[in-house]
Amino acid sequence: MDFDFIVVGSGFGGSVSAHRLTEKGYRVAVMEMGRRWTPENLPTTNWKIWNWIWRPGLGLRGFFNIDPFRHVLIMHGCAVGGGSITYANTLLAPGDGIWESGSWAGLADWKAEMPRHYETAVRMLGVTENRIMGPADDILQRAAVEHGAGKSFYRTRVAVFEGPEGEAPGLTYPDPYFGGAGPQRASCIGCGGCMMGCRYGAKNTLDQNYLYLAEKAGAQVFAETKVVDVRPLDNSDGSNGYEVFTVPSTLAPGGRRRHTCRGVVFAASALGTLDLLFRLKEKGSLPRISVQLGNRVRTNCESLIGVRVPGGEDLSTGIAIGSGFYLDEYTHIEATRYPAGSDAMGLLATVLTGGEPGRGRIALWLRSLVSSLLRHPWRTIRILHPFGWARESIILLCMQTLDGHIDMRLARPWFWPFRRVLRSYGRRIPTFIPQANQFARKLAHAIGGTPMSMVTEILFDVPGTAHILGGCPMGASAEDGVVDSRNRLFGYENLYVCDGSVIAANLGVNPSLTICALTERAMSQIPPARGEL
Ligand SMILES: Cc1cc2nc3c(=O)[nH]c(=O)nc-3n(C[C@H](O)[C@H](O)[C@H](O)COP(=O)(O)OP(=O)(O)OC[C@H]3O[C@@H](n4cnc5c(N)ncnc54)[C@H](O)[C@@H]3O)c2cc1C
Ligand code: SF4
Repeated sequence: MDFDFIVVGSGFGGSVSAHRLTEKGYRVAVMEMGRRWTPENLPTTNWKIWNWIWRPGLGLRGFFNIDPFRHVLIMHGCAVGGGSITYANTLLAPGDGIWESGSWAGLADWKAEMPRHYETAVRMLGVTENRIMGPADDILQRAAVEHGAGKSFYRTRVAVFEGPEGEAPGLTYPDPYFGGAGPQRASCIGCGGCMMGCRYGAKNTLDQNYLYLAEKAGAQVFAETKVVDVRPLDNSDGSNGYEVFTVPSTLAPGGRRRHTCRGVVFAASALGTLDLLFRLKEKGSLPRISVQLGNRVRTNCESLIGVRVPGGEDLSTGIAIGSGFYLDEYTHIEATRYPAGSDAMGLLATVLTGGEPGRGRIALWLRSLVSSLLRHPWRTIRILHPFGWARESIILLCMQTLDGHIDMRLARPWFWPFRRVLRSYGRRIPTFIPQANQFARKLAHAIGGTPMSMVTEILFDVPGTAHILGGCPMGASAEDGVVDSRNRLFGYENLYVCDGSVIAANLGVNPSLTICALTERAMSQIPPARGEL
């Protein structure tokens, strides 16, 4: 065999797997579709879309992917280090209640087992309480108090090196996390740029911890390499090993390659793993994958709204997500920002419009736009043009723990019938959270700004999410799940799924810590090398 394990994808699930398997003495390869990023090649703003957006067919080789579906607009990362390069570093543990609902309920004593895996993930990722509060966080705190929810306001827990208390920002320190085995770090300067990749060495991305340690211990990372096929050797159940086929994902040299291994960890994110597993099932490479594949995909019940205050103070400083509070029992709001100059997301912003989704809301939106343009032409243009959007906006990331899910299947879209692609099915996901919209309006009124939402929510009744989860439900058997409670794919030996696709509930908080903790748990049950897998 070329390797003991091949890990598909280097995000949260992939990097944890690579590190733990290498530590156990296995020979590990990580196949990653995205590029490797360093402070030197990260873009300075997101107007440099060729280094921000991932669409290699169009020559765009960035780390941020945006995929439209009928039910939801999905944002996700694509890089060595997966979503950690573009994510906003916020790592929160969800409430205990999430283990009582969803397909994983009753499959393990989650409440007893998970705390120690969360603790390990928190230590490995260097999670700390945010000390760098920006103006947007102060505004959110005042608004939470005004709303009567001041007690629930909190500083986020973030995977950022903020340096010793009282020391100046931007200083370099030897590895503060792994007793000298990790890379040196620099203390955060609070530039708000985390979602554009940290150019200052302060963000604890996976290539600075789990993946770094895995590579140091011998794991081989193949960047710009896409896995397109996984087949059991000898057409068996995989107990004799697998052959894994890869192709270059960009114009990097090299053609289709074959690698052999004893086991595979699918960690290509909820969307990536669903896409790959559907194709493997349908083309007969892994035909025994459960029919539950693609069921119960969740969006974390999310809505992105905000307030823009032209000409006010610079709202872009601080950490990407610096603080949050609970609007009510189910609704959680975080103050989010892009760094000054990274205004491209402003192209998706428009004025917040009330009313139920549908044609009525579009008409209302058009009417309010026209009337606003007639009454206050200069102010309206200032709000709608994207330039200055990041400095002038506080983005409110709203998440709910309420249940709700869609399904995904491979199908041919009517507008492009030449290729089967993932498509979403099921009941529509609410595009607006009325109480969150009301909060945005009140906040805008209080700070003299204009409440905003995403144009896709109004025009297409499609919410945006950066937290796509589920699709490989856990179950007691292949009849009711794709994987078991130890992340093992039903029907095959030594195949694991360790990424957002196994999350079985709307967490109501950002999911990466839970993906790490679940992967830590799955990996802790694999014996060291030379034992039976
Ligand atoms: C802008 C933004 C901000 C976010 N902020 C937060 C936050 O603050 N906190 C939080 O918890 N979460 C946040 N998230 C979500 C977080 O990034 C994801 O939940 C997390 O990265 C998912 O982890 P994963 O292990 O499932 O996969 P990922 O981290 O997405 O990694 C999967 C990797 O697999 C690769 N891949 C896919 N298919 C293949 C293939 N066929 N072959 C080879 N490689 C493949 C992809 O390129 C990708 O790099 C944010 C997301 C975005 C987009
Ligand atoms: S705020 Fe700036 S320096 Fe701090 S982690 Fe984010 S990008 Fe890096």
